[in-house]
Amino acid sequence: MAVRAAVLPAVGSPLEITGIELPDPGPGQVRVRLAAAGVCHSDLSLSDGTMRVPVPAVLGHEGAGTVVAVGEGVGHVSPGDGVVLNWAPSCGGCHACSLGEVWLCANALKGAADVYARTTEGTGLHPGLNVAAFAEETVVSASCVLPVPDGVPLTDAALLGCAVLTGYGAVHHAARVRQGETVAVFGVGGVGLAALQAARIAGASKIVAVDVSPGKEDLARAAGATDYVVASETTAREIRGLTGKQGVDVAVECAGRAVSIRAAWDSTRRGGRTTVVGIGGKDQQVTFNALEIFHWGRTLSGCVYGNSDPAKDLPVLAGHIRAGRLDLSALVTERISLDGIPAAFENMLAGKGGRALVVF
Ligand SMILES: [Zn+2]
Ligand SMILES: [Zn+2]
Repeated sequence: MAVRAAVLPAVGSPLEITGIELPDPGPGQVRVRLAAAGVCHSDLSLSDGTMRVPVPAVLGHEGAGTVVAVGEGVGHVSPGDGVVLNWAPSCGGCHACSLGEVWLCANALKGAADVYARTTEGTGLHPGLNVAAFAEETVVSASCVLPVPDGVPLTDAALLGCAVLTGYGAVHHAARVRQGETVAVFGVGGVGLAALQAARIAGASKIVAVDVSPGKEDLARAAGATDYVVASETTAREIRGLTGKQGVDVAVECAGRAVSIRAAWDSTRRGGRTTVVGIGGKDQQVTFNALEIFHWGRTLSGCVYGNSDPAKDLPVLAGHIRAGRLDLSALVTERISLDGIPAAFENMLAGKGGRALVVF
């Protein structure tokens, strides 16, 4: 029986909401009925070609649902279990995995090259970022599912799969924010909102949210921001002004834009740390002069999937959720159907809203 899915027919083409045929799960595979899937900026980047995956593809990589069937050899989940989809499973055998840096696994996206389903006309489909969550059901490798921790509603759990692991991890694993430090978060989308909450959990003494839109202040403050700055040429100066002219200890950049990365770096104190979580294009060139790199003694680092190990981090996040420190629903600004994804892309392009969540 066909299930409905959002298919990217070709890079640069609009998504088509159409029926697809899924096979039964093979050995080591799991079939999942989606409860919810978040619309992430990376889905937009895949559809416009900023990032590339084989097409035609079913996008969507932030999801949670219920296992409906398992293939041979799958032991850690059974039909009826609630699961979070993990779009970046680790192989355990590559150099990065052997060092425990599973978020950099060399084989994480191998599955995207496979044909995992077909259109009702028989055209082969790839699973965008391994999990193809923009569909009523999906078939994934068992390594892409993790049990939903106790006390986390299945619909909200979808957000754990990308925005929350990424935003929380950027603050706790990559930037290692310590109690009392000051933090600026650039870009108040799903990941930025998670980063703001993570900074609050870390005990940051001042949390500055920065966004191009003046309309996200309430959202940012609800997530933990103590100050709000509308991005302009003077953003870094304003942030230094909020911190006794010093600059923040940590900047987390979630937009992936050259101007924003440069402003984030400029807004930190001498010796400050900037973590870039946003995924920008090759056209986004950031420049530094040699003297300032020496003089400021700052650190600039990239961050993939929050430098997270989902199997270890999900139980930690669940603890924060149960204790009321992490509020997943505060990330969601819109609940939509599959048909609403193209409009959610438009909103992201216009810089509007937090996370749009497809609820099935
Ligand atoms: Zn994502
Ligand atoms: Zn690996």
